[in-house]
Amino acid sequence: MRQVNGPGHNYVGGTRRAGTSGESVDIVDPATGDVLVTADLAGPADVGDAVASATEAFKQWSATTPAERATVLLAWAGELERRADELARTESAQTGKPLRLSSEFDVPGSIDNTAFFGGAARLLEGAAAGEYSGDHTSYVRREPVGVVGSIAPWNYPLQMAAWKVLPAVAAGNTIVLKPAEITPLTSITFAEAAAAAGMPAGVVNVVTGRGPDAGETLVSHDDVAMVSFTGSTTVGRRVAALAIDGVRRVHLELGGKAPFVVFDDADLEAAVHGAVAAALINTGQDCTAATRAIVHRSLHDDFVAGVADLMGDMRLGMQTDPDTDLGPLVSFAQRDRVAAHVDRARAEGAKVVCGGRAGGGDLARGAFYEPTLVTGAGPDSSLWRDEVFGPVLLSVPFDTDDEAIALANDTPYGLAASVWTRDVHRSLRVTAEIQAGCCWVNDHIPIISEMPHGGYKQSGFGKDMSRYSLEDYTQVKHVMLDVTGTARKAWHRTVFTDRSPS
Ligand code: NAD
Repeated sequence: MRQVNGPGHNYVGGTRRAGTSGESVDIVDPATGDVLVTADLAGPADVGDAVASATEAFKQWSATTPAERATVLLAWAGELERRADELARTESAQTGKPLRLSSEFDVPGSIDNTAFFGGAARLLEGAAAGEYSGDHTSYVRREPVGVVGSIAPWNYPLQMAAWKVLPAVAAGNTIVLKPAEITPLTSITFAEAAAAAGMPAGVVNVVTGRGPDAGETLVSHDDVAMVSFTGSTTVGRRVAALAIDGVRRVHLELGGKAPFVVFDDADLEAAVHGAVAAALINTGQDCTAATRAIVHRSLHDDFVAGVADLMGDMRLGMQTDPDTDLGPLVSFAQRDRVAAHVDRARAEGAKVVCGGRAGGGDLARGAFYEPTLVTGAGPDSSLWRDEVFGPVLLSVPFDTDDEAIALANDTPYGLAASVWTRDVHRSLRVTAEIQAGCCWVNDHIPIISEMPHGGYKQSGFGKDMSRYSLEDYTQVKHVMLDVTGTARKAWHRTVFTDRSPS
Protein backbone atom coordinates (compact mmCIF):
# COMPACT_ATOMS: atom_id res chain seq x y z
CA MET A 1 0.00 0.00 0.00
CA ARG A 2 1.25 3.46 -0.77
CA GLN A 3 2.00 5.83 2.06
CA VAL A 4 -1.45 7.31 2.33
CA ASN A 5 -0.65 10.71 3.68
CA GLY A 6 2.89 11.37 2.59
CA PRO A 7 5.63 12.39 5.01
CA GLY A 8 4.79 13.82 8.40
CA HIS A 9 1.74 12.83 10.41
CA ASN A 10 0.97 16.17 11.97
CA TYR A 11 -0.82 19.12 10.45
CA VAL A 12 0.12 22.39 12.08
CA GLY A 13 -0.55 25.90 10.82
CA GLY A 14 -1.62 24.61 7.42
CA THR A 15 1.48 22.49 6.87
CA ARG A 16 2.15 18.78 7.13
CA ARG A 17 5.12 18.10 9.34
CA ALA A 18 6.90 15.34 11.20
CA GLY A 19 6.46 14.99 14.94
CA THR A 20 9.50 15.76 17.05
CA SER A 21 8.90 13.39 19.97
CA GLY A 22 11.54 11.04 18.59
CA GLU A 23 8.94 8.27 18.79
CA SER A 24 6.98 6.60 16.03
CA VAL A 25 4.18 4.11 15.77
CA ASP A 26 3.43 1.55 13.07
CA ILE A 27 0.01 1.97 11.52
CA VAL A 28 -1.01 -1.64 10.97
CA ASP A 29 -3.66 -3.23 8.79
CA PRO A 30 -5.31 -5.40 11.46
CA ALA A 31 -6.66 -7.84 8.87
CA THR A 32 -3.15 -8.94 7.93
CA GLY A 33 -0.74 -7.51 10.48
CA ASP A 34 1.07 -5.67 7.65
CA VAL A 35 2.54 -2.26 8.44
CA LEU A 36 0.88 0.38 6.24
CA VAL A 37 3.09 3.27 7.26
CA THR A 38 5.15 4.36 10.23
CA ALA A 39 3.83 7.55 11.80
CA ASP A 40 6.14 9.99 13.50
CA LEU A 41 4.59 11.11 16.76
CA ALA A 42 4.07 14.59 18.11
CA GLY A 43 5.54 15.52 21.44
CA PRO A 44 4.88 18.47 23.74
CA ALA A 45 6.78 20.91 21.47
CA ASP A 46 4.56 20.06 18.48
CA VAL A 47 1.45 20.44 20.62
CA GLY A 48 2.73 23.83 21.76
CA ASP A 49 3.25 24.89 18.13
CA ALA A 50 -0.22 23.69 17.17
CA VAL A 51 -1.85 25.58 20.06
CA ALA A 52 0.13 28.71 19.16
CA SER A 53 -1.02 28.39 15.58
CA ALA A 54 -4.66 27.94 16.64
CA THR A 55 -4.36 30.90 19.03
CA GLU A 56 -3.12 33.13 16.23
CA ALA A 57 -5.77 31.90 13.78
CA PHE A 58 -8.53 32.49 16.35
CA LYS A 59 -8.11 36.26 16.07
CA GLN A 60 -9.40 36.28 12.51
CA TRP A 61 -11.55 33.15 12.37
CA SER A 62 -13.60 34.21 15.40
CA ALA A 63 -14.32 37.51 13.65
CA THR A 64 -15.66 35.92 10.44
CA THR A 65 -19.36 36.11 9.73
CA PRO A 66 -21.49 32.98 9.93
CA ALA A 67 -21.91 33.18 6.16
CA GLU A 68 -18.14 33.24 5.63
CA ARG A 69 -17.71 30.17 7.83
CA ALA A 70 -20.61 28.45 6.07
CA THR A 71 -18.99 29.05 2.68
CA VAL A 72 -15.79 27.30 3.81
CA LEU A 73 -17.64 24.39 5.40
CA LEU A 74 -19.82 23.78 2.37
CA ALA A 75 -16.74 23.83 0.11
CA TRP A 76 -15.05 21.48 2.60
CA ALA A 77 -17.92 19.00 2.17
CA GLY A 78 -17.24 19.16 -1.57
CA GLU A 79 -13.51 18.52 -1.06
CA LEU A 80 -14.33 15.49 1.09
CA GLU A 81 -16.71 14.23 -1.57
CA ARG A 82 -13.86 14.41 -4.09
CA ARG A 83 -11.67 12.39 -1.72
CA ALA A 84 -14.46 9.96 -0.72
CA ASP A 85 -12.90 6.90 -2.28
CA GLU A 86 -9.44 7.60 -0.86
CA LEU A 87 -10.93 8.30 2.58
CA ALA A 88 -12.96 5.08 2.59
CA ARG A 89 -9.99 2.96 1.54
CA THR A 90 -7.65 4.53 4.05
CA GLU A 91 -10.22 4.28 6.86
CA SER A 92 -10.76 0.60 6.11
CA ALA A 93 -7.03 -0.09 5.86
CA GLN A 94 -6.13 1.50 9.20
CA THR A 95 -9.11 0.16 11.19
CA GLY A 96 -9.94 -3.16 9.48
CA LYS A 97 -13.56 -2.22 8.83
CA PRO A 98 -15.16 -3.53 5.62
CA LEU A 99 -15.04 -1.09 2.72
CA ARG A 100 -18.83 -1.48 2.54
CA LEU A 101 -19.08 0.13 5.99
CA SER A 102 -16.57 2.92 5.45
CA SER A 103 -17.91 3.85 2.00
CA GLU A 104 -21.60 3.68 2.94
CA PHE A 105 -21.50 4.93 6.54
CA ASP A 106 -18.29 6.57 7.80
CA VAL A 107 -17.45 8.69 4.76
CA PRO A 108 -20.92 9.85 3.61
CA GLY A 109 -21.86 10.46 7.25
CA SER A 110 -18.82 12.72 7.71
CA ILE A 111 -19.54 14.59 4.47
CA ASP A 112 -23.14 15.11 5.55
CA ASN A 113 -21.97 16.36 8.96
CA THR A 114 -19.71 18.87 7.25
CA ALA A 115 -22.52 20.17 5.04
CA PHE A 116 -24.90 20.24 8.04
CA PHE A 117 -22.56 22.41 10.11
CA GLY A 118 -22.12 24.68 7.09
CA GLY A 119 -25.85 25.41 7.34
CA ALA A 120 -26.01 25.35 11.13
CA ALA A 121 -23.25 27.97 11.42
CA ARG A 122 -25.80 30.52 10.19
CA LEU A 123 -28.51 29.56 12.64
CA LEU A 124 -26.92 30.28 16.01
CA GLU A 125 -29.37 32.34 18.04
CA GLY A 126 -29.53 33.99 21.42
CA ALA A 127 -32.66 35.02 23.33
CA ALA A 128 -34.55 37.94 21.81
CA ALA A 129 -33.47 41.34 23.10
CA GLY A 130 -35.82 42.94 25.64
CA GLU A 131 -36.23 45.53 28.41
CA TYR A 132 -36.29 43.17 31.37
CA SER A 133 -35.44 45.75 34.07
CA GLY A 134 -37.43 48.55 32.47
CA ASP A 135 -34.29 50.74 32.38
CA HIS A 136 -32.10 48.58 30.16
CA THR A 137 -32.12 46.67 26.95
CA SER A 138 -30.55 43.25 27.33
CA TYR A 139 -29.37 40.91 24.65
CA VAL A 140 -27.39 37.73 24.45
CA ARG A 141 -24.37 37.07 22.29
CA ARG A 142 -23.18 33.56 21.53
CA GLU A 143 -19.41 33.77 21.19
CA PRO A 144 -16.77 31.17 20.41
CA VAL A 145 -14.85 29.87 23.40
CA GLY A 146 -11.30 30.04 21.95
CA VAL A 147 -8.83 27.27 21.16
CA VAL A 148 -10.38 23.82 21.58
CA GLY A 149 -8.14 20.88 22.46
CA SER A 150 -9.80 17.72 21.25
CA ILE A 151 -8.99 14.04 21.63
CA ALA A 152 -10.55 11.25 19.57
CA PRO A 153 -10.63 7.43 19.65
CA TRP A 154 -9.77 4.85 16.97
CA ASN A 155 -13.13 3.21 16.28
CA TYR A 156 -14.50 5.72 13.73
CA PRO A 157 -11.45 7.96 13.20
CA LEU A 158 -12.91 10.11 10.42
CA GLN A 159 -16.35 10.48 11.96
CA MET A 160 -14.89 11.25 15.38
CA ALA A 161 -12.65 13.92 13.84
CA ALA A 162 -15.73 15.36 12.12
CA TRP A 163 -17.84 15.32 15.29
CA LYS A 164 -15.10 17.10 17.26
CA VAL A 165 -13.87 19.60 14.69
CA LEU A 166 -17.00 20.72 12.81
CA PRO A 167 -19.17 22.26 15.54
CA ALA A 168 -16.10 23.90 17.05
CA VAL A 169 -15.02 25.69 13.87
CA ALA A 170 -18.60 26.37 12.70
CA ALA A 171 -19.05 28.34 15.93
CA GLY A 172 -15.86 30.36 15.30
CA ASN A 173 -13.37 28.44 17.44
CA THR A 174 -10.04 27.04 16.29
CA ILE A 175 -8.95 23.53 17.19
CA VAL A 176 -6.08 21.16 17.82
CA LEU A 177 -7.20 17.56 17.33
CA LYS A 178 -5.28 14.59 18.65
CA PRO A 179 -6.51 11.43 16.91
CA ALA A 180 -5.77 8.00 18.36
CA GLU A 181 -2.14 7.32 17.50
CA ILE A 182 -2.93 4.02 15.75
CA THR A 183 -5.48 5.58 13.32
CA PRO A 184 -4.41 9.14 12.40
CA LEU A 185 -4.46 8.95 8.60
CA THR A 186 -7.97 10.10 7.71
CA SER A 187 -7.91 12.91 10.30
CA ILE A 188 -4.96 14.41 8.44
CA THR A 189 -6.74 14.09 5.08
CA PHE A 190 -9.79 15.71 6.72
CA ALA A 191 -7.68 18.73 7.76
CA GLU A 192 -6.04 18.95 4.33
CA ALA A 193 -9.45 18.93 2.66
CA ALA A 194 -10.41 21.89 4.86
CA ALA A 195 -7.36 23.81 3.63
CA ALA A 196 -8.24 23.00 0.02
CA ALA A 197 -11.71 24.44 0.72
CA GLY A 198 -10.25 27.74 1.86
CA MET A 199 -9.95 27.18 5.60
CA PRO A 200 -7.33 29.62 6.88
CA ALA A 201 -4.10 28.06 8.17
CA GLY A 202 -4.16 27.34 11.89
CA VAL A 203 -7.93 26.91 12.27
CA VAL A 204 -7.74 23.10 12.09
CA ASN A 205 -4.58 21.42 13.40
CA VAL A 206 -3.86 17.73 13.92
CA VAL A 207 -1.21 16.32 16.25
CA THR A 208 -0.61 12.59 16.16
CA GLY A 209 0.77 11.57 19.51
CA ARG A 210 0.32 9.33 22.49
CA GLY A 211 -2.31 10.07 25.12
CA PRO A 212 -0.15 10.47 28.21
CA ASP A 213 2.32 12.61 26.25
CA ALA A 214 0.75 14.75 23.50
CA GLY A 215 -2.78 14.26 24.88
CA GLU A 216 -2.06 15.42 28.42
CA THR A 217 0.04 18.34 27.15
CA LEU A 218 -2.89 19.44 25.01
CA VAL A 219 -5.65 19.24 27.62
CA SER A 220 -3.47 21.00 30.23
CA HIS A 221 -2.23 23.78 27.94
CA ASP A 222 -2.81 27.27 29.35
CA ASP A 223 -4.00 28.60 25.97
CA VAL A 224 -6.59 25.87 25.46
CA ALA A 225 -9.99 27.22 26.53
CA MET A 226 -12.06 24.07 26.06
CA VAL A 227 -11.37 20.35 26.03
CA SER A 228 -13.53 17.92 24.12
CA PHE A 229 -12.84 14.24 24.46
CA THR A 230 -14.26 11.03 23.01
CA GLY A 231 -12.95 7.80 24.39
CA SER A 232 -13.18 5.50 27.37
CA THR A 233 -14.64 6.57 30.70
CA THR A 234 -11.36 5.77 32.45
CA VAL A 235 -9.30 8.12 30.26
CA GLY A 236 -12.18 10.64 30.22
CA ARG A 237 -11.90 10.95 34.02
CA ARG A 238 -8.19 11.76 33.75
CA VAL A 239 -8.73 14.23 30.90
CA ALA A 240 -11.57 15.95 32.79
CA ALA A 241 -9.43 16.26 35.94
CA LEU A 242 -6.59 17.89 33.98
CA ALA A 243 -8.97 20.24 32.17
CA ILE A 244 -10.84 21.23 35.31
CA ASP A 245 -7.57 21.98 37.07
CA GLY A 246 -7.18 24.86 34.62
CA VAL A 247 -10.93 25.67 34.82
CA ARG A 248 -11.37 24.74 31.18
CA ARG A 249 -14.74 23.87 29.74
CA VAL A 250 -15.07 20.09 29.25
CA HIS A 251 -17.12 18.08 26.78
CA LEU A 252 -17.02 14.29 27.26
CA GLU A 253 -18.32 11.47 25.06
CA LEU A 254 -17.43 8.27 26.87
CA GLY A 255 -18.15 4.56 26.94
CA GLY A 256 -21.45 2.72 26.61
CA LYS A 257 -23.14 -0.56 27.45
CA ALA A 258 -26.37 -0.24 25.52
CA PRO A 259 -29.43 -2.31 26.46
CA PHE A 260 -31.56 -3.82 23.69
CA VAL A 261 -34.97 -4.48 25.25
CA VAL A 262 -37.34 -6.88 23.49
CA PHE A 263 -40.91 -7.01 24.84
CA ASP A 264 -43.29 -9.93 24.37
CA ASP A 265 -45.26 -8.11 21.62
CA ALA A 266 -42.15 -7.35 19.52
CA ASP A 267 -41.62 -8.45 15.93
CA LEU A 268 -39.16 -11.25 16.68
CA GLU A 269 -37.61 -11.37 13.21
CA ALA A 270 -36.99 -7.62 13.31
CA ALA A 271 -35.50 -7.90 16.79
CA VAL A 272 -33.17 -10.74 15.77
CA HIS A 273 -31.91 -8.90 12.68
CA GLY A 274 -31.67 -5.65 14.63
CA ALA A 275 -29.67 -7.29 17.42
CA VAL A 276 -27.11 -8.86 15.09
CA ALA A 277 -26.63 -5.63 13.11
CA ALA A 278 -26.43 -3.49 16.25
CA ALA A 279 -24.07 -5.82 18.10
CA LEU A 280 -21.70 -6.39 15.19
CA ILE A 281 -21.50 -3.05 13.40
CA ASN A 282 -17.84 -2.02 13.19
CA THR A 283 -17.03 -5.41 14.76
CA GLY A 284 -18.83 -4.25 17.89
CA GLN A 285 -16.40 -1.35 18.37
CA ASP A 286 -19.20 1.18 18.58
CA CYS A 287 -20.00 3.04 21.77
CA THR A 288 -23.75 2.65 21.07
CA ALA A 289 -23.56 -1.02 19.99
CA ALA A 290 -26.16 -3.36 21.46
CA THR A 291 -24.35 -5.25 24.18
CA ARG A 292 -27.05 -6.37 26.63
CA ALA A 293 -30.12 -8.01 25.05
CA ILE A 294 -32.92 -7.99 27.64
CA VAL A 295 -35.60 -10.24 26.19
CA HIS A 296 -39.05 -11.25 27.49
CA ARG A 297 -38.88 -14.83 28.76
CA SER A 298 -41.60 -15.97 26.33
CA LEU A 299 -39.31 -15.02 23.37
CA HIS A 300 -35.90 -15.60 24.87
CA ASP A 301 -35.16 -19.10 23.50
CA ASP A 302 -36.32 -18.17 19.98
CA PHE A 303 -34.38 -14.90 20.12
CA VAL A 304 -31.18 -16.70 21.14
CA ALA A 305 -31.63 -19.34 18.43
CA GLY A 306 -32.31 -16.69 15.76
CA VAL A 307 -29.33 -14.52 16.74
CA ALA A 308 -26.98 -17.54 16.89
CA ASP A 309 -28.13 -18.62 13.40
CA LEU A 310 -27.58 -15.21 11.89
CA MET A 311 -24.24 -14.71 13.65
CA GLY A 312 -23.14 -18.10 12.33
CA ASP A 313 -23.79 -16.86 8.76
CA MET A 314 -21.58 -13.77 9.09
CA ARG A 315 -18.61 -13.80 6.73
CA LEU A 316 -15.33 -12.62 8.25
CA GLY A 317 -12.74 -11.40 5.81
CA MET A 318 -10.62 -8.74 4.19
CA GLN A 319 -11.90 -5.17 4.03
CA THR A 320 -11.94 -4.89 0.25
CA ASP A 321 -13.80 -8.17 -0.37
CA PRO A 322 -17.41 -7.18 -1.15
CA ASP A 323 -18.58 -10.39 0.53
CA THR A 324 -17.03 -9.48 3.86
CA ASP A 325 -19.55 -8.74 6.61
CA LEU A 326 -17.21 -8.50 9.56
CA GLY A 327 -13.66 -7.18 9.70
CA PRO A 328 -11.06 -7.74 12.40
CA LEU A 329 -10.81 -5.78 15.63
CA VAL A 330 -8.76 -2.62 15.26
CA SER A 331 -5.62 -4.21 16.73
CA PHE A 332 -4.26 -7.43 18.16
CA ALA A 333 -4.32 -5.83 21.60
CA GLN A 334 -8.05 -5.10 21.24
CA ARG A 335 -8.69 -8.64 19.98
CA ASP A 336 -6.91 -10.02 23.05
CA ARG A 337 -8.92 -7.75 25.36
CA VAL A 338 -12.18 -9.01 23.83
CA ALA A 339 -11.03 -12.63 24.15
CA ALA A 340 -10.13 -12.04 27.82
CA HIS A 341 -13.65 -10.69 28.53
CA VAL A 342 -15.27 -13.78 26.98
CA ASP A 343 -12.86 -16.15 28.74
CA ARG A 344 -13.67 -14.49 32.06
CA ALA A 345 -17.41 -14.90 31.37
CA ARG A 346 -16.82 -18.60 30.65
CA ALA A 347 -14.86 -18.97 33.87
CA GLU A 348 -17.72 -17.30 35.76
CA GLY A 349 -20.11 -19.99 34.40
CA ALA A 350 -21.68 -18.24 31.38
CA LYS A 351 -22.63 -20.21 28.26
CA VAL A 352 -21.02 -19.19 24.97
CA VAL A 353 -23.80 -20.03 22.49
CA CYS A 354 -21.74 -19.22 19.40
CA GLY A 355 -18.34 -17.74 18.55
CA GLY A 356 -16.03 -17.11 21.47
CA ARG A 357 -12.86 -17.73 19.46
CA ALA A 358 -10.30 -15.85 17.44
CA GLY A 359 -10.54 -16.29 13.67
CA GLY A 360 -8.80 -19.44 12.40
CA GLY A 361 -7.36 -20.56 9.04
CA ASP A 362 -6.47 -17.66 6.74
CA LEU A 363 -7.81 -15.22 9.29
CA ALA A 364 -5.36 -16.26 11.98
CA ARG A 365 -2.78 -13.69 10.86
CA GLY A 366 -5.30 -10.87 11.47
CA ALA A 367 -7.02 -9.61 14.64
CA PHE A 368 -10.27 -11.45 13.92
CA TYR A 369 -12.72 -12.65 16.55
CA GLU A 370 -15.89 -14.59 15.81
CA PRO A 371 -19.33 -13.06 16.42
CA THR A 372 -20.20 -14.18 19.93
CA LEU A 373 -23.47 -14.69 21.78
CA VAL A 374 -23.43 -15.39 25.50
CA THR A 375 -26.22 -16.41 27.89
CA GLY A 376 -26.28 -17.34 31.56
CA ALA A 377 -24.38 -14.24 32.78
CA GLY A 378 -26.51 -12.07 35.04
CA PRO A 379 -26.26 -8.50 36.27
CA ASP A 380 -23.52 -9.37 38.74
CA SER A 381 -21.25 -10.78 36.01
CA SER A 382 -18.29 -8.93 34.52
CA LEU A 383 -19.73 -9.28 31.01
CA TRP A 384 -22.84 -7.36 32.10
CA ARG A 385 -20.85 -4.57 33.76
CA ASP A 386 -17.73 -4.02 31.66
CA GLU A 387 -17.47 -2.42 28.24
CA VAL A 388 -16.10 -5.13 25.92
CA PHE A 389 -15.94 -3.14 22.67
CA GLY A 390 -16.02 -6.18 20.42
CA PRO A 391 -18.49 -8.47 18.59
CA VAL A 392 -20.05 -9.87 21.77
CA LEU A 393 -23.73 -9.83 22.76
CA LEU A 394 -25.04 -11.03 26.12
CA SER A 395 -28.71 -12.05 26.36
CA VAL A 396 -30.79 -12.27 29.55
CA PRO A 397 -34.52 -12.97 30.04
CA PHE A 398 -37.04 -10.84 32.01
CA ASP A 399 -40.64 -11.26 33.16
CA THR A 400 -42.19 -7.83 33.80
CA ASP A 401 -41.86 -4.38 32.19
CA ASP A 402 -40.56 -2.90 35.44
CA GLU A 403 -37.89 -5.59 35.63
CA ALA A 404 -36.86 -4.85 32.00
CA ILE A 405 -36.48 -1.14 32.75
CA ALA A 406 -34.52 -1.82 35.93
CA LEU A 407 -32.18 -4.16 34.01
CA ALA A 408 -31.74 -1.62 31.19
CA ASN A 409 -30.75 1.04 33.73
CA ASP A 410 -28.52 -1.30 35.74
CA THR A 411 -25.24 0.11 34.39
CA PRO A 412 -23.05 3.11 35.14
CA TYR A 413 -23.27 4.00 31.43
CA GLY A 414 -26.12 5.83 29.67
CA LEU A 415 -25.26 6.46 26.05
CA ALA A 416 -27.89 4.60 24.03
CA ALA A 417 -30.68 2.01 24.28
CA SER A 418 -33.38 0.46 22.16
CA VAL A 419 -36.90 -0.76 22.84
CA TRP A 420 -38.61 -3.35 20.67
CA THR A 421 -42.42 -3.35 20.93
CA ARG A 422 -45.52 -2.81 18.79
CA ASP A 423 -47.31 -1.06 21.68
CA VAL A 424 -46.98 2.71 21.24
CA HIS A 425 -47.92 3.43 24.87
CA ARG A 426 -45.30 1.03 26.14
CA SER A 427 -42.66 2.58 23.85
CA LEU A 428 -43.48 6.08 25.14
CA ARG A 429 -43.33 5.02 28.79
CA VAL A 430 -40.18 2.92 28.53
CA THR A 431 -38.18 5.42 26.44
CA ALA A 432 -38.99 8.06 29.05
CA GLU A 433 -37.76 5.82 31.88
CA ILE A 434 -34.55 4.56 30.31
CA GLN A 435 -31.56 6.69 31.35
CA ALA A 436 -29.70 7.13 28.08
CA GLY A 437 -28.93 9.99 25.71
CA CYS A 438 -30.51 8.20 22.75
CA CYS A 439 -33.40 5.69 22.70
CA TRP A 440 -34.45 3.96 19.51
CA VAL A 441 -37.78 2.20 19.05
CA ASN A 442 -37.73 -0.88 16.80
CA ASP A 443 -34.26 -0.03 15.52
CA HIS A 444 -30.77 0.45 16.97
CA ILE A 445 -27.73 2.39 15.61
CA PRO A 446 -28.93 4.96 13.00
CA ILE A 447 -27.65 8.49 13.60
CA ILE A 448 -28.35 11.72 11.76
CA SER A 449 -26.55 15.04 11.62
CA GLU A 450 -29.60 17.03 12.81
CA MET A 451 -30.05 15.11 16.07
CA PRO A 452 -27.81 15.08 19.16
CA HIS A 453 -25.57 12.21 20.20
CA GLY A 454 -24.27 12.13 23.75
CA GLY A 455 -24.47 10.42 27.08
CA TYR A 456 -26.19 10.32 30.43
CA LYS A 457 -24.46 9.13 33.60
CA GLN A 458 -20.85 7.95 33.12
CA SER A 459 -21.20 8.08 29.34
CA GLY A 460 -20.37 11.75 29.68
CA PHE A 461 -21.95 15.11 28.99
CA GLY A 462 -22.21 17.46 26.06
CA LYS A 463 -23.60 16.57 22.66
CA ASP A 464 -22.06 15.75 19.29
CA MET A 465 -23.79 16.61 15.97
CA SER A 466 -26.94 18.79 15.84
CA ARG A 467 -27.38 22.40 16.89
CA TYR A 468 -26.92 21.29 20.52
CA SER A 469 -23.24 20.58 19.86
CA LEU A 470 -22.86 23.94 18.16
CA GLU A 471 -24.16 25.57 21.34
CA ASP A 472 -21.75 23.48 23.43
CA TYR A 473 -18.87 25.16 21.60
CA THR A 474 -20.06 28.68 22.38
CA GLN A 475 -20.20 30.79 25.49
CA VAL A 476 -23.12 33.04 26.26
CA LYS A 477 -22.59 36.71 27.00
CA HIS A 478 -25.24 39.02 28.39
CA VAL A 479 -24.94 42.62 27.16
CA MET A 480 -27.01 45.17 29.14
CA LEU A 481 -27.46 48.75 27.89
CA ASP A 482 -28.88 51.60 29.90
CA VAL A 483 -31.82 53.10 28.02
CA THR A 484 -32.63 55.98 30.44
CA GLY A 485 -29.66 58.19 29.54
CA THR A 486 -29.65 59.53 33.12
CA ALA A 487 -26.57 60.15 35.23
CA ARG A 488 -28.38 59.27 38.43
CA LYS A 489 -29.86 55.83 38.03
CA ALA A 490 -32.75 54.80 40.25
CA TRP A 491 -30.90 51.76 41.55
CA HIS A 492 -27.97 53.91 42.88
CA ARG A 493 -30.03 54.57 46.05
CA THR A 494 -29.28 51.01 47.14
CA VAL A 495 -25.63 52.12 47.39
CA PHE A 496 -25.75 55.82 48.35
CA THR A 497 -28.42 58.47 48.91
CA ASP A 498 -28.61 61.33 46.45
CA ARG A 499 -26.96 64.33 48.26
CA SER A 500 -26.34 66.57 45.31
CA PRO A 501 -28.70 69.45 44.42
CA SER A 502 -31.12 68.46 41.73
P1 NAD B 1 -9.21 5.58 24.96
O1 NAD B 1 -9.92 6.28 26.05
O2 NAD B 1 -8.19 4.56 25.31
O3 NAD B 1 -8.44 6.63 24.03
C1 NAD B 1 -9.13 7.71 23.45
C2 NAD B 1 -8.13 8.79 23.11
O4 NAD B 1 -7.57 9.27 24.32
C3 NAD B 1 -6.95 8.34 22.23
O5 NAD B 1 -6.65 9.38 21.31
C4 NAD B 1 -5.82 8.20 23.24
O6 NAD B 1 -4.53 8.40 22.67
C5 NAD B 1 -6.16 9.32 24.21
N1 NAD B 1 -5.59 9.16 25.55
C6 NAD B 1 -5.24 8.03 26.20
N2 NAD B 1 -4.74 8.33 27.42
C7 NAD B 1 -4.77 9.68 27.54
C8 NAD B 1 -4.38 10.59 28.56
N3 NAD B 1 -3.86 10.17 29.71
N4 NAD B 1 -4.56 11.92 28.34
C9 NAD B 1 -5.08 12.37 27.18
N5 NAD B 1 -5.45 11.55 26.17
C10 NAD B 1 -5.30 10.21 26.35
O7 NAD B 1 -10.36 5.02 24.00
P2 NAD B 1 -10.19 4.14 22.70
O8 NAD B 1 -9.78 2.78 23.15
O9 NAD B 1 -9.37 4.86 21.70
O10 NAD B 1 -11.71 4.12 22.14
C11 NAD B 1 -12.68 3.31 22.65
C12 NAD B 1 -13.49 4.03 23.71
O11 NAD B 1 -14.09 5.21 23.14
C13 NAD B 1 -14.66 3.20 24.20
O12 NAD B 1 -14.76 3.35 25.59
C14 NAD B 1 -15.87 3.83 23.50
O13 NAD B 1 -17.09 3.62 24.16
C15 NAD B 1 -15.48 5.26 23.48
N6 NAD B 1 -16.23 5.98 22.44
C16 NAD B 1 -17.25 6.80 22.83
C17 NAD B 1 -18.01 7.48 21.88
C18 NAD B 1 -19.14 8.40 22.28
O14 NAD B 1 -19.63 9.12 21.43
N7 NAD B 1 -19.55 8.41 23.53
C19 NAD B 1 -17.70 7.34 20.53
C20 NAD B 1 -16.65 6.49 20.17
C21 NAD B 1 -15.91 5.82 21.14
